This record gives sequence, C-alpha cells and structure tokens, in this order.
Amino acid sequence: MPLLSRRPMDQGEPGTRKPAFIDRPAGEGSSSNVVRRKDGVGLSRTKPGLFETCANPECGSGWLHLWRSRSAPVFEQGWNCSAACTRVRVEEAVRRELDGRAGALDGHRHRIPLGLVMLEQGWITSGQLRQALDAQKVAGGGRLGNWLVRNQGVSEQLVTRALGLQWSCPVLPAEYHDAESLAALVPRLFVDAFGALPLRVAAGKLVYLGFEDRLDSVLALAVERMTGLRVECGLVQSTHFRLAHTRALNACYPLAQLIEAGSEPAVVRALASAIERGRPVESRLTRVHDCLWLRMWRRPQRGPLPDRDAVQDLICSVGSQ
Ligand SMILES: [Zn+2]
Repeated sequence: MPLLSRRPMDQGEPGTRKPAFIDRPAGEGSSSNVVRRKDGVGLSRTKPGLFETCANPECGSGWLHLWRSRSAPVFEQGWNCSAACTRVRVEEAVRRELDGRAGALDGHRHRIPLGLVMLEQGWITSGQLRQALDAQKVAGGGRLGNWLVRNQGVSEQLVTRALGLQWSCPVLPAEYHDAESLAALVPRLFVDAFGALPLRVAAGKLVYLGFEDRLDSVLALAVERMTGLRVECGLVQSTHFRLAHTRALNACYPLAQLIEAGSEPAVVRALASAIERGRPVESRLTRVHDCLWLRMWRRPQRGPLPDRDAVQDLICSVGSQ
C-alpha cells in the first residue's frame, strides 16, 4: 500500500476541489485527472483539462490561470498554476518530510547479538564464538560474522541465515540480478551510501531490496513511497551481495543532481525552481535519512519502473537541524 497521500484530485481535498460554479460533464468521475496504473498508483495527466484547478489551497489566481498556457508542472499529483503556487506546495511537502524525521525510528531496535543467535541454533560452538570475539577485539573491529567465516571456518551461508533470524527477514538470492533493468528504481547515491541492492520486481507491484548485513527501513519506506511498489527487504549472502552490488554501481542511472542546502528555505527554493524548470508531468518528494529526494517524471510512467531517460532525481542534503 503506497503511503503517499494520493487522493484523487476532486474528492473534496481543499487544495484541488473544483469551484462550485464549474460543472463537470456527467461521467467525468474522480479518477479523470489521473492515469491509473494496474497497481493503483496514478501519475497525473500530461495536460490538465480546461477547468483544472491549481493544487495550492491558497492560490489567489481565480479564473486568471485559465488563460495561462501552462500544463505543467505537476507536484504530488497536483497541478500548479504559477511558480508561487509551486513554491507553497513544495514548502508544505518539505516541512512534512522534515517534521517526520524527528519521530522516525531509524531501525535502532534491540536485536539479539549474532553470536548468540548462531550459538542458540547450534551453528557454532562457544569456543568458536569466543575466539571470533577475541579476534574482533584484537583487530579493533570488523563484523563478527566475517571473523567467524575467516578464522573459524563457519560457512558464509549460515552467517547470512543467522542475520536473517536476527532481523526477522528473508535471505534473498542474487543469482538472476539484472542491474541495468533496475537502475531507474533507486538513485545511485543511495545504492552506494546505504548499501542497498534492488534485486527484482515481482508481479509489477513488489520490489525486493537486498542488503548485506543490516536492513535500512528508512530507505525502504522512501522507495515504497516514491515508486508505489511494495518493498520487501532481505539479506543477501556477502559474496553474492558484493558482486551484484558492484554490478549495480556500474549500471546507467537516471540523471541526478546533488544539492547542499544550508536551511529549510534554501531547500524549498532549490526544489521549487527545479520543478519550475523541469516542468514535470509528475514529481514527488520523500526523505531518506538526512536527504530529501525529489523525483521528476518527464513523461507518464507506463510500467512498474520508469524509463531511465524519463525521470530525473534531485537529492538535497539538509544537514542536522
Ligand atoms: Zn495557483
């Protein structure tokens, strides 16, 4: 279930309600502004109808915008009649995303230590655990799983299975991973920085996202909201993960721009002007840790994934505020 608020444009939402004096022809229902994909995710039409209403609740243009030759940009399924209206709506979205940051649980849940999970399963002996912990201490770090594999002859497969138990998630295969076909899903920066590996899309509505040793639920939620696909996270055995991750990093990605903004108003200015310049047929904003991710669609999306050349990403680091 996509978490973005994607209400049809004329279901009583204050910002998109049709003025009472405009009658819609019979049969023009609530979904008339939105091209629905099979999974229910809508991308706005390229060209709004004659009586399209600006999505900014405080828009003061009244009838004036009907004479403006402006069919884009569209932000979060709402058409904006002017640069000023785009800015107001982006400002609200930025505030929503940054406010959400304060209450977000970034996955700091207590988990049973890996060594104990493996001991409990009978996959290692207490002697092996003690020696791996000693090696880790002497070396001043490194993942326990790696020490168990390297020094104690424990199989990597068992370590991944134990990590799966620790995180209560499946172990995902990476054998048939097609990096190029998935490159339009998540920006390269996130694949690199957060160790995420898009593995495959299933039935046009579910995407498997692999990680090496810990899940990133914040990223998973952002991908879910941005793409409208349900994200299933899992762990991938280290050797397979690294090979596939290298392939993923070498794939061709949609155009992406990075912006560092010092303040919230600077973020809003940068994002709103990018939307005004890009004139997207749809654009969406979501937060990934300390970044805001804006994706702009140049043309409506036909399948579960956008075409690489049809989307552009803007990633804005906000810093700690
Ligand atoms: Zn307006």
